[in-house]
Amino acid sequence: MSSESTLRADIVEVGRRMYARGYTASNDGNISVRLGADRLLMTPKSVCKGFMTPDMMCITDLEGRKIQGDRDPSSEMLMHLEVYRQRPDVQAVVHAHPPTATGFAVAGIPLDRAVLAEVLTTLGSIPIAEYATPSTKELPEAVRKYIKAHDGMLLANHGALTVGGDLYGAYYKMETIEHFAKISLVARLLGRENLLSREEVTRLQELRGAYGIKAPAPICAETGTIPGWSDPTFRSDPDPVADASCQVVQAPPGAGSRLVPDVLRQSADGEIRLTYRELSALIEDAVRNLR
Ligand SMILES: [Zn+2]
Repeated sequence: MSSESTLRADIVEVGRRMYARGYTASNDGNISVRLGADRLLMTPKSVCKGFMTPDMMCITDLEGRKIQGDRDPSSEMLMHLEVYRQRPDVQAVVHAHPPTATGFAVAGIPLDRAVLAEVLTTLGSIPIAEYATPSTKELPEAVRKYIKAHDGMLLANHGALTVGGDLYGAYYKMETIEHFAKISLVARLLGRENLLSREEVTRLQELRGAYGIKAPAPICAETGTIPGWSDPTFRSDPDPVADASCQVVQAPPGAGSRLVPDVLRQSADGEIRLTYRELSALIEDAVRNLR
């Protein structure tokens, strides 16, 4: 394990990167790392993560009692404590509000479609933890449901949370989530999102083992049992059992193909999907023809 002074410097650096990349504004976000078996090193409340110094950090125990530090620990400390309780393998926790990923969290759209191989092999799926008032006990309760099977998740109408075997591992997952959200947004704006087939997802899952990628749970590539499949843009009621035990990814059968085209436009029942702009244009045309 790294020395305390190294970890303090690493938290400062990760905070600086998060702020520089626009993942946090003002005093948003928080970062913590394990410091030995029963202590945590954590960012303090009410400071901008882009301008921290190593001496600002708080040391707490796993119950959240402050052991050392001039400032009080992060207002989201309860969420961090819950993650460390649920995941003995986790060494670091990062929370931020990256704008594109948070946009998906506000829209209620999880990043759980089989789109990018690298995201599938590392994070699997990125679900949305139900809305909870920030800094209250509700937030750890919302996170608890997903944290055993996921290293990254969106927080409804709030932001994103990532964890890792070390601080940079947790931070890079935050980068991956925001990058994936940007790519997904562009694909959806362009009007189509080809998916990796279920068979390809199985192949990628096997690659996790080959490359020694540690994941807290296997991917379960499902179609028939996924309520959102007939309406892939919105899953209002994710299956809590499946979400708790594996990383549910929306991946259609490929029938020999590794890519399955255009599910946004045409779902399994033959329904044609249009973007809001396309639908508006059709309505405008129809109204014009009526005059
Ligand atoms: Zn927050």
